Amino acid sequence: MRLIILGPPGAGKGTQAKRLAERLGVPAISTGDIFRSNVERGTPLGRQVKQYLDAGEYVPDSVTNEMVHDRLGEPDALAGFLLDGYPRTTAQVEVLDGILAESEHRLEAVIELVADTEVVGARLLRRAEIEGRADDTEDVIRRRLEVYQEQTAPLTDVYAARGLVRRVDGMGSMDDVTDRLAKALEG
Ligand code: ADP
Repeated sequence: MRLIILGPPGAGKGTQAKRLAERLGVPAISTGDIFRSNVERGTPLGRQVKQYLDAGEYVPDSVTNEMVHDRLGEPDALAGFLLDGYPRTTAQVEVLDGILAESEHRLEAVIELVADTEVVGARLLRRAEIEGRADDTEDVIRRRLEVYQEQTAPLTDVYAARGLVRRVDGMGSMDDVTDRLAKALEG
């Protein structure tokens, strides 16, 4: 299974991606997690991307694409994956198409996790208090939501035109959402 999960910051994508991937037996690959872990470890990649994460801006496509290309080439991703946080721009969509074409694979589905913008803003602020993520401050959250609307929301149409999108309501309890996601993939 090769899947993408799309949705605004705070929609619960990360949590749901991990749960769903576990059920499906494929790795959940989160570009945000990979970037954050590199920042925490102070790797060269981490030093390169920190400024973008802190500001709520997207990391340049060249950096992101190379990282994803390498990650998808790792053995655990060969039989399938659930991508969380990638692609986020139309240029990234093209690169992913290329990566998949190289290995003669195709996407099975693109899950759109739908969430209310007011709810997600409030969720992110609450999470900030608990997890202390550097980019969960009010200004940066606002910027992340803006960048999402401008650059990533249009990807739903791109994939809808290919008949791949499954819309799933992201509101409600975590378990309910996971069940809905699993059901959406059965259909
Ligand atoms: P969220 O969806 O809550 O904003 P993520 O963990 O998916 O959180 O991403 C955090 C940050 O990592 C983004 O704001 C951006 O700076 C960077 N990032 C993650 N994925 C990408 C991507 N595909 N392209 C560019 N930047 C990315």
